Amino acid sequence: LTEKLSRLVKEMRGQARITESNVQDMLREVRMALLEADVALPVVRDFIARVKEKALGQEVVGSLTPGQALVGIIHKELAATMGAGVSDINLAAQPPAVILMAGLQGAGKTTTTAKLAKLLIDKRKKKVLTVSGDVYRPAAIEQLKTVTKQAGAEWFPSTPDQKPLDIARAALDYAKKHYFDVLLVDTAGRLAIDEALMREIQELHAALNPVETLFVVDAMQGQDAVNTARAFKEALPLTGIVLTKMDGDSRGGAALSVRTVTGAPIKFAGVSEKIDGLEVFDAERHAGRILGMGDIVALVEQVTAGVDMAQAQKLAAKVKSGEGFDLEDFLEQIRQMKKMGGLSSLMDKLPTQMAAKASETDLSRAEKDIRRKEGIICSMTPQERRKPEIIKATRKRRIAAGAGVHVQEVNRLLKEFEQMQAMMKKMKGGGLMKMMKKLGG
Ligand code: GDP
Ligand code: MG
Repeated sequence: LTEKLSRLVKEMRGQARITESNVQDMLREVRMALLEADVALPVVRDFIARVKEKALGQEVVGSLTPGQALVGIIHKELAATMGAGVSDINLAAQPPAVILMAGLQGAGKTTTTAKLAKLLIDKRKKKVLTVSGDVYRPAAIEQLKTVTKQAGAEWFPSTPDQKPLDIARAALDYAKKHYFDVLLVDTAGRLAIDEALMREIQELHAALNPVETLFVVDAMQGQDAVNTARAFKEALPLTGIVLTKMDGDSRGGAALSVRTVTGAPIKFAGVSEKIDGLEVFDAERHAGRILGMGDIVALVEQVTAGVDMAQAQKLAAKVKSGEGFDLEDFLEQIRQMKKMGGLSSLMDKLPTQMAAKASETDLSRAEKDIRRKEGIICSMTPQERRKPEIIKATRKRRIAAGAGVHVQEVNRLLKEFEQMQAMMKKMKGGGLMKMMKKLGG
């Protein structure tokens, strides 16, 4: 893994040259990535057009590494689109602040109601009441009761023979009388949009005057999410979106579609079935997920920020001229790795399939390992660093003693250095596109 990492870093240091046609290639790939992530086609078209306009404008400026600039633009635009106007849950109302949950059946309304209750209790010390207006399925009311208990909130009873509007009014009344800060209103969903359902929730909205009307949508829903979102937006003044089931393996393209269609900010992401499985939506991270490259873009930024450009160029020139890669360079690499905030911080930004290969213990071991290596190289004389082949038994013993390690460890480092050197010789440019293809696929 460390080998993979350093290769990655190196390839990013190489000067990716992205020409006009490369821009086209890149955008075609992004388009594919978006479609694969189930973003709706019109949304994709619109997005690509916007990025293209920005990217071509940027080219005139002539960045040092146009490839990085382009990835940056794509990622930023995606994150900005999804993250625009994001704000915390709004409770600015005469208490009780009413939050109305809307969405299709199975979207996760009931679960999210309880998760939200827990969040408001734990993080904002609110007194929370929940109520279910789902009178069509008796089990749904019981379900809310159960999860509300888990959340530590209070549940207002309702029964299937009542009208949702009456239930809501009674709950609101109770909440006022008992000084609740927040009233969460869970509603019925249908498997598909229907008139009666929309009318019912519109009536609820009118009667409750909620400060938040949250549209709950399943991230796995893919292309259909657009139609559902449009229908709910037409029926209700949505104030926010909750994307559920983000722990599934969908790339979550629904986020971009739903955000674009409703204009409402994505406030939360459901990340498990459990009561604490609700997170504040992170647009940057999600942009990486949609593009299928982890937070590779943040990694690019981190690398360019941490790496000394002059050093990197010197190194690249050395490799190109075949002059060879010595232990000084190796040390430089190790140090730049450290500059970038350590391995674990880099790991966070890699695509999951890569990150999954390294456990926590692997990481802390790897970081310790880096420090030891640095120590060993520092115990060498400049001459030894430049000509590692002169390091024989006596020198090895001296170096080991200086670094406080066993001779075997010095051997291991030299071996590793040789492998790295061989790899460096084989490397021929590469560039960002190649790297991204490798990582994305
Ligand atoms: P509702 O019909 O809209 O009220 O949907 P529910 O809240 O009953 O959720 C439907 C199913 O999705 C239940 O089995 C939930 O446990 C599950 N669910 C809801 N949110 C999430 C989530 O964020 N992650 C996972 N894995 N499951 C979820
Ligand atoms: Mg429900």
